[in-house]
Amino acid sequence: MYFSIFLFLCMTSLYALPFNFIKKETDTLNTPTLLVIGGIHGNEPGGYFSAAILSRYYTITEGNLWIVPDLNRPSIQQNDRGINGDMNRKFADIDPQDADLETVQEIQKIITEKQVSLVLNLHDGHGFYRKEHLNTIFNPNAWGQTCVIDQGSLDTEHPFGNLNEIASKVNLELNNALIADHHFFDIRNTNTRFDDETMKHSLTFFSVSHNKPAFAIETSKNLPTLPHKVFYQLHAIECYMKLMGIKYKRSFDLTPDTIHELLNTYEELTINNGFYLNLKNLKNSLSFIPLQSEGNEFKFTHPLGSVQKKDGQYDIFIGNQKISSLTPSYHIKESCSGSVSIIVDGEAKEIPIATDFFATADFKVINKDTNRRINIIGFTYKGIKDEANIRVGLNDLDSKYSIDTSNKSYRIELYKQNHFCGMVLVHFK
Ligand SMILES: [Zn+2]
Repeated sequence: MYFSIFLFLCMTSLYALPFNFIKKETDTLNTPTLLVIGGIHGNEPGGYFSAAILSRYYTITEGNLWIVPDLNRPSIQQNDRGINGDMNRKFADIDPQDADLETVQEIQKIITEKQVSLVLNLHDGHGFYRKEHLNTIFNPNAWGQTCVIDQGSLDTEHPFGNLNEIASKVNLELNNALIADHHFFDIRNTNTRFDDETMKHSLTFFSVSHNKPAFAIETSKNLPTLPHKVFYQLHAIECYMKLMGIKYKRSFDLTPDTIHELLNTYEELTINNGFYLNLKNLKNSLSFIPLQSEGNEFKFTHPLGSVQKKDGQYDIFIGNQKISSLTPSYHIKESCSGSVSIIVDGEAKEIPIATDFFATADFKVINKDTNRRINIIGFTYKGIKDEANIRVGLNDLDSKYSIDTSNKSYRIELYKQNHFCGMVLVHFK
């Protein structure tokens, strides 16, 4: 008994990383692997939203891509550089009591894995780097629009060891596709070992010291919009992939306009495999969310989806954007497997649990299982407890209970002995 509990704890600590880790691989033995890290600084959304788009909308056809989009997740939720101090100053040594200890140690393990050929750390930096001081935005202390290297080349032989040459090639290509001329990219060599005491504690210097080529991509915080930052980040990452011989397909046009659309796509959340939310136009707060008192499993399709429990509520985030607050209603875990039979606009359909469907005029749930009760949230019919076998249209529903700001999406929930066991979501067109 003790043994199995011990094993279980080991397994969870092994597999529950404090960040997302996405692998896109074609051939791990013979082709290079690029590791892209976003979100070391929680107030630099250009970096982490780029990593998220990279993981959702790129396919790798040759070589391998590893992505950690949300390294410092608690700081991303707060849109704070580092709620436990600057994580990028904890890579040389770290206090064993430091709240970032696990994150730093786990990413160090990933960086030093044999398979990793090159590391990119994504940032949004202040201003626009210029060798001459022009003003507070354009000057030699600015980090924006730079490719940062710790030294000209690695100490030992490596196929991608000439950092200065690689950064120069990437910059040349970036500077051929600028949205405005003053966005041009330069190299900032911090010459860390000799000149920069603080950078010795950074992620890139840790990598370089372990013979892993590493670069920081710094797009400017002073660019006009988030899509601009993501545009330059993704363009830079593509340049690195090309230089490394990693081939990819991207499912959208790389322009700030298309990026803007992708950034507003929050996708879906499934809780405990039974409760489903489409996060598009979600209301700021939702009530009576069936949860367990502990051990809830939140599955987001968006790589920057996360939850924070605060004051009895569950706050839902996509990156630094708080999407909604869920007020729970606690239930014992029950599950209704399979699907729900529903007549949608006169046509019989089987809707799998924890998915959604569209209706134009109305729907009617057919309940074949006498142990299950149907509860349509926002619908009341005098004297009826099981709301199956009734035709329900949009006008029959109380908009107070819709989950979305357009009042068109409603929850159809299934109960077993008064405990929630699954749901489907209806959207009226
Ligand atoms: Zn940063």
